[in-house]
Amino acid sequence: MKNKSPTILIIGAGPGGLCLAHALEKNKNIKQFNVKIFDREFSPTARWQGYHVTLYSSGVKSLIQCVPTSLIPHIPHAIPDTNNLKEEHIVYALNRSGHKIVQPPTNRQFPNFIEFSKYPLNFNEFMLGYRDVLRDILLQDIEVQWGKKCVGYEEVENGVFALFEDGTREFGDLLVACDGINSVIRKQKLPHLKIQNNGIINIIADIAPSQQLISRLQKYTGNSLMNVIMGSYNDCSSQLLRMIPINDEREIDVRFRMTIIYSYAIHISPNTDDIDRDLYKETTAQIINEVKTRIAKTNPEKELTKLLLELWDLVPLDDSVNPYPFKKFNPPRKKLIRHIDPKSIPIWESTRVTLLGDAIHAMEPSLGLEILSKSLLKMDKIGWEKCIWLYENEMRQRTSRHVVLSTKAARKLHGIYRASS
Ligand SMILES: Cc1cc2nc3c(=O)[nH]c(=O)nc-3n(C[C@H](O)[C@H](O)[C@H](O)COP(=O)(O)OP(=O)(O)OC[C@H]3O[C@@H](n4cnc5c(N)ncnc54)[C@H](O)[C@@H]3O)c2cc1C
Repeated sequence: MKNKSPTILIIGAGPGGLCLAHALEKNKNIKQFNVKIFDREFSPTARWQGYHVTLYSSGVKSLIQCVPTSLIPHIPHAIPDTNNLKEEHIVYALNRSGHKIVQPPTNRQFPNFIEFSKYPLNFNEFMLGYRDVLRDILLQDIEVQWGKKCVGYEEVENGVFALFEDGTREFGDLLVACDGINSVIRKQKLPHLKIQNNGIINIIADIAPSQQLISRLQKYTGNSLMNVIMGSYNDCSSQLLRMIPINDEREIDVRFRMTIIYSYAIHISPNTDDIDRDLYKETTAQIINEVKTRIAKTNPEKELTKLLLELWDLVPLDDSVNPYPFKKFNPPRKKLIRHIDPKSIPIWESTRVTLLGDAIHAMEPSLGLEILSKSLLKMDKIGWEKCIWLYENEMRQRTSRHVVLSTKAARKLHGIYRASS
């Protein structure tokens, strides 16, 4: 194996798989690999990659380390420079009367993502990026094989086969599953590692409010890029936005891109196995109606309540709304928040198949990669078994801590105080 380039099969072209592919390519002067990446979608635009994404300094640092220097100048399209006059990269929590309940102790201003990446990790500080644009940037220079839905794998003595729904198979030295929270590879490799849930429902939509609506919200939330407005029934409404207009600032109807999230606690067993992603099958109108009814139930007479209702009124009910400022109509998502803690099962044997990202340590967006790529670069010296073991050992410790922290934060926010599962 020392003399030829080992083949790494990556299943899934989400942020995890794409960053790994870039990191291996970037370090080919240290160790060369033959990287093949597959995704079940038929094209890069087949699935909605919307929403804002919150990025902590450690995440931005990993991103910079993984991607080639040629892509760095493109990153400001996904994570625009800070507009110091108009933006505070902090979260405010308010009650429905608009009074601040939680305000971070600091509000350091940083000019751009490079400077931000040098900060120590602090969960009070983040940058807000555009998830879809980041995905487009990460796809540059990576040749993804689309329309390849992996249905399992077969390990043999000298390698591993990825098996695809179309009946084909690919042989590699190692297989890295980056196929997200419903990973088929995790289900085969670690059938005991279950998806768990916090008993919290999240309903998320992207909208394009006007300057006038934004100004009304800013009276309460200031220039914070994320704010959480607490309801009275263990529910909360979160708004994420950059103060950067979608269209030309000289136009009369200036619009902004905003992600709105309504979440509430429900009574459901935390140990529900493999919660079906299609658990909720309501229509868009029914989902919006449910959110508005719940919001209106708490303090209906308050101006902030009125404002939240107006924001949810902006969610288009179908694609007949034209022109919608986003690329295409995307219905709001209603999901149980789920998590996967790799430390919740005994240590498994390191084989030629390993897992990365949501496939192995999914967590709430309430909190926020490079270990595997760094470990693989040592393959000639220490062999693939030790590489995979080093990665899995560190990943289990580090990300389990984050999964637990994130789970607790989400539960606290929704008034759920039972012990962590
Ligand atoms: C609404 C929401 C908001 C979030 N906000 C944040 C945030 O603000 N900050 C943050 O850090 N994280 C956030 N997260 C979490 C973050 O999105 C995930 O951690 C991240 O997307 C995981 O990346 P991934 O590459 O591991 O998996 P995914 O992004 O799920 O990508 C998996 C890829 O694998 C492909 N795939 C799946 N199954 C197969 C198969 N069988 N065969 C082939 N290909 C397959 C999929 O098509 C997809 O392209 C959020 C998540 C959600 C849902």
